[in-house]
Amino acid sequence: MKKIAVLTSGGDSPGMNAAVRAVVRKGLYLGLEVFGVYRGYTGLMEGEIKKFDLGSVGDIIHRGGTMLHSSRSEEFKTEEGQRKAIDQLMSHGIEGVVVIGGDGSYRGAQKLAEYGIATVGIPGTIDNDIPGTDYTIGFDTALNTIVDAIDKIRDTAMSHEKTSVIEVMGRDAGDLALWSGLAGGAESIMIPEVSIDIGGIVDKIQKGIERGKKHSIIIVAEGSTSGVEVVKQIKNRMNLEPRVTILGHLQRGGKPTGFDRVLASRLGAYAVDLLTDNQVGVAVGIEQNKLVHYPFDKILGKPHQINTNMFELASQLSI
Ligand code: ATP
Repeated sequence: MKKIAVLTSGGDSPGMNAAVRAVVRKGLYLGLEVFGVYRGYTGLMEGEIKKFDLGSVGDIIHRGGTMLHSSRSEEFKTEEGQRKAIDQLMSHGIEGVVVIGGDGSYRGAQKLAEYGIATVGIPGTIDNDIPGTDYTIGFDTALNTIVDAIDKIRDTAMSHEKTSVIEVMGRDAGDLALWSGLAGGAESIMIPEVSIDIGGIVDKIQKGIERGKKHSIIIVAEGSTSGVEVVKQIKNRMNLEPRVTILGHLQRGGKPTGFDRVLASRLGAYAVDLLTDNQVGVAVGIEQNKLVHYPFDKILGKPHQINTNMFELASQLSI
Protein backbone atom coordinates (compact mmCIF):
# COMPACT_ATOMS: atom_id res chain seq x y z
CA MET A 1 0.00 0.00 0.00
CA LYS A 2 1.40 3.36 -1.04
CA LYS A 3 -1.36 5.92 -0.58
CA ILE A 4 -3.68 6.29 2.39
CA ALA A 5 -6.21 8.90 3.52
CA VAL A 6 -7.67 10.02 6.82
CA LEU A 7 -11.05 11.59 7.59
CA THR A 8 -13.09 12.59 10.63
CA SER A 9 -16.84 11.93 10.66
CA GLY A 10 -19.94 12.32 12.87
CA GLY A 11 -19.77 14.39 16.05
CA ASP A 12 -16.37 15.98 16.62
CA SER A 13 -14.43 15.23 19.78
CA PRO A 14 -11.35 16.72 21.46
CA GLY A 15 -8.30 14.70 20.48
CA MET A 16 -9.40 14.05 16.90
CA ASN A 17 -6.65 16.42 15.76
CA ALA A 18 -4.03 14.45 17.66
CA ALA A 19 -5.29 11.28 15.95
CA VAL A 20 -5.15 12.90 12.50
CA ARG A 21 -1.61 14.07 13.24
CA ALA A 22 -0.57 10.58 14.32
CA VAL A 23 -2.02 8.94 11.19
CA VAL A 24 -0.34 11.47 8.90
CA ARG A 25 3.04 11.43 10.63
CA LYS A 26 3.17 7.64 11.08
CA GLY A 27 2.21 7.19 7.43
CA LEU A 28 4.93 9.59 6.27
CA TYR A 29 7.42 7.93 8.64
CA LEU A 30 6.68 4.61 6.91
CA GLY A 31 7.19 6.19 3.49
CA LEU A 32 3.51 6.36 2.45
CA GLU A 33 1.75 9.20 0.69
CA VAL A 34 -0.94 10.51 3.05
CA PHE A 35 -4.05 12.48 2.08
CA GLY A 36 -6.39 14.48 4.31
CA VAL A 37 -10.10 14.33 3.41
CA TYR A 38 -12.09 17.38 4.51
CA ARG A 39 -15.70 17.28 5.85
CA GLY A 40 -15.96 13.51 6.38
CA TYR A 41 -17.88 11.41 3.87
CA THR A 42 -19.36 14.57 2.28
CA GLY A 43 -15.89 15.81 1.35
CA LEU A 44 -14.91 12.32 0.22
CA MET A 45 -17.78 12.29 -2.30
CA GLU A 46 -17.01 15.86 -3.40
CA GLY A 47 -13.28 15.25 -3.78
CA GLU A 48 -12.12 17.57 -1.00
CA ILE A 49 -8.89 15.62 -0.74
CA LYS A 50 -5.46 17.14 -0.21
CA LYS A 51 -2.01 15.59 -0.10
CA PHE A 52 -0.48 16.23 3.32
CA ASP A 53 3.13 16.70 4.41
CA LEU A 54 4.66 16.84 7.89
CA GLY A 55 3.74 20.53 8.25
CA SER A 56 0.10 19.95 7.30
CA VAL A 57 -0.59 18.65 10.80
CA GLY A 58 1.75 21.00 12.68
CA ASP A 59 0.39 22.99 15.63
CA ILE A 60 -2.85 20.99 15.97
CA ILE A 61 -2.11 18.44 18.70
CA HIS A 62 -3.41 20.78 21.42
CA ARG A 63 -6.51 22.02 19.60
CA GLY A 64 -10.11 20.85 20.11
CA GLY A 65 -12.47 20.06 17.23
CA THR A 66 -11.04 18.66 14.02
CA MET A 67 -8.95 20.58 11.50
CA LEU A 68 -10.36 18.26 8.81
CA HIS A 69 -13.91 19.33 9.76
CA SER A 70 -16.66 16.75 10.12
CA SER A 71 -20.11 16.09 8.68
CA ARG A 72 -23.09 13.79 8.65
CA SER A 73 -24.14 12.73 5.16
CA GLU A 74 -27.38 11.02 4.16
CA GLU A 75 -26.14 10.81 0.56
CA PHE A 76 -23.20 8.62 1.56
CA LYS A 77 -25.66 6.05 2.91
CA THR A 78 -26.87 5.48 -0.68
CA GLU A 79 -25.11 3.32 -3.28
CA GLU A 80 -24.84 6.36 -5.57
CA GLY A 81 -23.06 8.34 -2.84
CA GLN A 82 -20.73 5.46 -2.05
CA ARG A 83 -19.81 5.09 -5.73
CA LYS A 84 -18.97 8.80 -5.89
CA ALA A 85 -16.62 8.33 -2.93
CA ILE A 86 -15.00 5.25 -4.47
CA ASP A 87 -14.45 7.12 -7.76
CA GLN A 88 -12.68 9.90 -5.86
CA LEU A 89 -10.44 7.44 -4.01
CA MET A 90 -9.60 5.60 -7.24
CA SER A 91 -8.79 8.81 -9.10
CA HIS A 92 -6.26 9.67 -6.36
CA GLY A 93 -4.92 6.10 -6.23
CA ILE A 94 -5.82 5.84 -2.53
CA GLU A 95 -6.06 2.22 -1.32
CA GLY A 96 -6.51 2.65 2.42
CA VAL A 97 -8.68 4.97 4.55
CA VAL A 98 -8.55 5.65 8.28
CA VAL A 99 -11.95 6.80 9.58
CA ILE A 100 -12.08 8.60 12.92
CA GLY A 101 -15.60 8.76 14.38
CA GLY A 102 -18.39 6.91 16.12
CA ASP A 103 -20.33 3.76 15.22
CA GLY A 104 -22.18 5.44 12.34
CA SER A 105 -18.84 6.38 10.83
CA TYR A 106 -17.71 2.76 11.25
CA ARG A 107 -20.74 1.64 9.22
CA GLY A 108 -19.60 4.01 6.50
CA ALA A 109 -16.08 2.53 6.65
CA GLN A 110 -17.59 -0.94 6.37
CA LYS A 111 -19.34 0.16 3.16
CA LEU A 112 -16.02 1.39 1.70
CA ALA A 113 -14.51 -2.00 2.58
CA GLU A 114 -17.25 -3.73 0.56
CA TYR A 115 -15.89 -1.89 -2.52
CA GLY A 116 -12.38 -3.17 -1.82
CA ILE A 117 -10.97 -0.19 0.07
CA ALA A 118 -8.82 -1.12 3.06
CA THR A 119 -10.33 0.63 6.10
CA VAL A 120 -9.46 1.00 9.76
CA GLY A 121 -11.68 2.82 12.29
CA ILE A 122 -10.55 4.88 15.26
CA PRO A 123 -13.08 5.57 18.06
CA GLY A 124 -13.54 9.34 18.23
CA THR A 125 -16.55 10.40 20.31
CA ILE A 126 -17.00 11.96 23.73
CA ASP A 127 -19.69 9.40 24.63
CA ASN A 128 -17.38 6.44 25.30
CA ASP A 129 -20.04 4.25 23.74
CA ILE A 130 -18.00 2.14 21.28
CA PRO A 131 -17.52 -1.54 22.16
CA GLY A 132 -13.99 -2.92 21.80
CA THR A 133 -12.24 -0.13 23.65
CA ASP A 134 -12.12 0.99 27.26
CA TYR A 135 -11.94 4.64 26.19
CA THR A 136 -12.89 6.66 23.12
CA ILE A 137 -10.94 9.74 22.07
CA GLY A 138 -12.53 12.82 23.65
CA PHE A 139 -14.19 11.12 26.61
CA ASP A 140 -11.56 12.18 29.13
CA THR A 141 -11.61 15.80 27.98
CA ALA A 142 -15.42 16.00 28.06
CA LEU A 143 -15.41 14.32 31.48
CA ASN A 144 -13.05 16.97 32.85
CA THR A 145 -15.10 19.77 31.27
CA ILE A 146 -18.22 18.46 32.99
CA VAL A 147 -16.49 17.98 36.34
CA ASP A 148 -15.24 21.57 36.14
CA ALA A 149 -18.82 22.75 35.46
CA ILE A 150 -20.19 20.67 38.36
CA ASP A 151 -17.61 22.21 40.71
CA LYS A 152 -18.65 25.71 39.66
CA ILE A 153 -22.36 24.96 39.98
CA ARG A 154 -21.67 23.40 43.39
CA ASP A 155 -20.12 26.70 44.61
CA THR A 156 -23.26 28.67 43.84
CA ALA A 157 -25.63 25.83 44.85
CA MET A 158 -23.94 25.75 48.24
CA SER A 159 -24.07 29.53 48.69
CA HIS A 160 -27.78 29.72 47.84
CA GLU A 161 -28.73 26.41 49.42
CA LYS A 162 -30.17 25.06 46.19
CA THR A 163 -30.70 21.69 44.57
CA SER A 164 -29.08 21.65 41.13
CA VAL A 165 -30.00 19.44 38.23
CA ILE A 166 -27.29 19.23 35.55
CA GLU A 167 -28.06 17.67 32.17
CA VAL A 168 -25.06 16.19 30.35
CA MET A 169 -24.58 14.52 26.97
CA GLY A 170 -25.13 10.80 26.41
CA ARG A 171 -28.08 9.76 24.25
CA ASP A 172 -27.46 6.03 24.51
CA ALA A 173 -24.58 5.79 26.97
CA GLY A 174 -24.40 6.99 30.55
CA ASP A 175 -20.60 6.99 30.92
CA LEU A 176 -20.21 10.77 30.94
CA ALA A 177 -22.99 11.13 33.53
CA LEU A 178 -21.71 8.26 35.66
CA TRP A 179 -18.05 9.25 35.69
CA SER A 180 -18.72 12.98 36.14
CA GLY A 181 -21.33 12.27 38.82
CA LEU A 182 -18.87 10.12 40.75
CA ALA A 183 -16.03 12.62 40.29
CA GLY A 184 -18.26 15.59 41.14
CA GLY A 185 -19.80 14.01 44.23
CA ALA A 186 -23.36 14.07 42.86
CA GLU A 187 -26.16 12.83 45.09
CA SER A 188 -28.00 11.12 42.21
CA ILE A 189 -27.06 10.03 38.70
CA MET A 190 -29.62 9.24 35.99
CA ILE A 191 -28.40 7.21 33.00
CA PRO A 192 -30.18 5.54 30.07
CA GLU A 193 -28.98 2.06 31.10
CA VAL A 194 -30.80 2.14 34.46
CA SER A 195 -34.54 2.80 34.81
CA ILE A 196 -35.50 6.07 36.45
CA ASP A 197 -36.49 6.13 40.10
CA ILE A 198 -37.58 9.70 40.74
CA GLY A 199 -39.15 8.65 44.07
CA GLY A 200 -35.75 7.43 45.27
CA ILE A 201 -34.10 10.69 44.22
CA VAL A 202 -36.72 12.76 46.06
CA ASP A 203 -36.30 10.57 49.18
CA LYS A 204 -32.56 11.16 49.08
CA ILE A 205 -32.97 14.94 48.82
CA GLN A 206 -35.49 14.84 51.68
CA LYS A 207 -33.18 12.79 53.92
CA GLY A 208 -30.36 15.19 53.12
CA ILE A 209 -32.46 18.18 54.15
CA GLU A 210 -33.43 16.41 57.39
CA ARG A 211 -29.80 15.93 58.37
CA GLY A 212 -29.03 19.60 57.62
CA LYS A 213 -27.69 19.29 54.07
CA LYS A 214 -28.06 22.55 52.21
CA HIS A 215 -27.64 21.54 48.59
CA SER A 216 -27.79 18.55 46.28
CA ILE A 217 -26.52 17.83 42.79
CA ILE A 218 -28.34 15.54 40.37
CA ILE A 219 -26.68 14.54 37.09
CA VAL A 220 -28.97 13.56 34.23
CA ALA A 221 -27.75 11.97 30.98
CA GLU A 222 -29.81 13.41 28.11
CA GLY A 223 -30.75 9.88 26.99
CA SER A 224 -32.30 9.14 30.38
CA THR A 225 -34.76 12.07 30.56
CA SER A 226 -34.43 15.84 30.39
CA GLY A 227 -33.15 18.05 33.19
CA VAL A 228 -36.29 20.19 32.87
CA GLU A 229 -38.47 17.10 33.36
CA VAL A 230 -36.53 16.09 36.48
CA VAL A 231 -37.05 19.57 37.98
CA LYS A 232 -40.78 19.32 37.19
CA GLN A 233 -41.02 15.91 38.86
CA ILE A 234 -39.19 17.09 41.97
CA LYS A 235 -41.38 20.20 42.24
CA ASN A 236 -44.49 18.00 41.97
CA ARG A 237 -43.32 15.90 44.91
CA MET A 238 -41.75 18.37 47.33
CA ASN A 239 -41.57 22.05 48.21
CA LEU A 240 -38.32 22.80 46.40
CA GLU A 241 -37.26 25.01 43.46
CA PRO A 242 -34.32 23.17 41.89
CA ARG A 243 -32.20 24.90 39.26
CA VAL A 244 -31.45 23.24 35.97
CA THR A 245 -28.30 23.66 33.86
CA ILE A 246 -28.03 22.07 30.42
CA LEU A 247 -24.34 21.91 29.57
CA GLY A 248 -24.92 21.32 25.84
CA HIS A 249 -22.21 21.68 23.25
CA LEU A 250 -19.57 23.14 25.54
CA GLN A 251 -18.96 19.49 26.46
CA ARG A 252 -17.70 18.75 22.95
CA GLY A 253 -15.20 21.60 22.73
CA GLY A 254 -11.98 22.57 24.42
CA LYS A 255 -8.37 21.52 24.21
CA PRO A 256 -7.80 17.80 24.66
CA THR A 257 -6.38 16.50 27.92
CA GLY A 258 -2.98 14.85 27.98
CA PHE A 259 -4.73 11.48 28.29
CA ASP A 260 -6.77 12.04 25.13
CA ARG A 261 -3.70 13.24 23.20
CA VAL A 262 -1.70 10.15 24.17
CA LEU A 263 -4.63 7.83 23.43
CA ALA A 264 -5.18 9.50 20.03
CA SER A 265 -1.48 9.33 19.16
CA ARG A 266 -1.26 5.63 20.04
CA LEU A 267 -4.47 4.67 18.22
CA GLY A 268 -3.61 6.78 15.15
CA ALA A 269 -0.20 5.21 14.71
CA TYR A 270 -1.59 1.72 15.39
CA ALA A 271 -4.26 2.20 12.71
CA VAL A 272 -1.54 2.89 10.13
CA ASP A 273 0.45 -0.15 11.28
CA LEU A 274 -2.63 -2.32 10.71
CA LEU A 275 -3.30 -0.80 7.27
CA THR A 276 0.24 -1.50 6.11
CA ASP A 277 0.03 -5.00 7.58
CA ASN A 278 -3.21 -5.54 5.62
CA GLN A 279 -5.20 -6.17 8.79
CA VAL A 280 -8.22 -4.21 7.65
CA GLY A 281 -11.98 -3.92 8.09
CA VAL A 282 -11.24 -3.45 11.76
CA ALA A 283 -11.58 -0.82 14.49
CA VAL A 284 -8.77 -0.11 16.92
CA GLY A 285 -9.13 0.39 20.65
CA ILE A 286 -7.39 0.13 23.97
CA GLU A 287 -8.15 -2.48 26.61
CA GLN A 288 -6.27 -2.61 29.91
CA ASN A 289 -3.68 -0.28 28.35
CA LYS A 290 -3.03 -2.63 25.43
CA LEU A 291 -3.75 -1.73 21.81
CA VAL A 292 -6.39 -4.04 20.32
CA HIS A 293 -8.42 -4.34 17.13
CA TYR A 294 -11.67 -6.08 16.25
CA PRO A 295 -13.52 -6.57 12.94
CA PHE A 296 -16.29 -3.97 12.46
CA ASP A 297 -18.82 -6.84 12.46
CA LYS A 298 -17.88 -7.76 16.03
CA ILE A 299 -18.32 -4.18 17.26
CA LEU A 300 -21.35 -2.87 15.40
CA GLY A 301 -24.67 -3.76 16.94
CA LYS A 302 -23.07 -4.87 20.20
CA PRO A 303 -24.83 -3.08 23.08
CA HIS A 304 -22.82 -0.63 25.13
CA GLN A 305 -22.08 -1.86 28.65
CA ILE A 306 -22.10 0.39 31.67
CA ASN A 307 -19.81 -0.34 34.60
CA THR A 308 -22.45 -1.47 37.09
CA ASN A 309 -19.94 -1.61 39.97
CA MET A 310 -19.21 2.06 39.46
CA PHE A 311 -22.91 2.93 39.41
CA GLU A 312 -23.35 1.01 42.66
CA LEU A 313 -20.32 2.75 44.16
CA ALA A 314 -21.67 6.19 43.25
CA SER A 315 -24.91 5.43 45.03
CA GLN A 316 -23.09 3.97 48.07
CA LEU A 317 -20.98 7.12 48.41
CA SER A 318 -23.92 9.48 48.19
CA ILE A 319 -26.26 8.07 50.83
P1 ATP B 1 -21.44 10.24 16.97
O1 ATP B 1 -21.25 9.10 17.92
O2 ATP B 1 -20.73 11.44 17.36
O3 ATP B 1 -22.89 10.47 16.59
P2 ATP B 1 -21.17 8.76 14.52
O4 ATP B 1 -20.00 8.38 13.69
O5 ATP B 1 -21.94 7.62 15.13
O6 ATP B 1 -20.68 9.78 15.60
P3 ATP B 1 -23.30 9.25 12.63
O7 ATP B 1 -24.00 10.51 12.26
O8 ATP B 1 -24.11 8.11 13.11
O9 ATP B 1 -22.15 9.65 13.65
O10 ATP B 1 -22.49 8.72 11.35
C1 ATP B 1 -21.62 9.59 10.64
C2 ATP B 1 -21.82 9.38 9.15
O11 ATP B 1 -21.43 8.05 8.79
C3 ATP B 1 -23.24 9.50 8.62
O12 ATP B 1 -23.67 10.83 8.47
C4 ATP B 1 -23.16 8.75 7.31
O13 ATP B 1 -22.61 9.57 6.30
C5 ATP B 1 -22.17 7.63 7.65
N1 ATP B 1 -22.97 6.42 7.92
C6 ATP B 1 -23.67 6.11 9.04
N2 ATP B 1 -24.32 4.94 8.91
C7 ATP B 1 -24.05 4.49 7.65
C8 ATP B 1 -24.44 3.35 6.90
N3 ATP B 1 -25.24 2.41 7.40
N4 ATP B 1 -23.93 3.22 5.64
C9 ATP B 1 -23.13 4.15 5.12
N5 ATP B 1 -22.73 5.26 5.78
C10 ATP B 1 -23.18 5.44 7.03
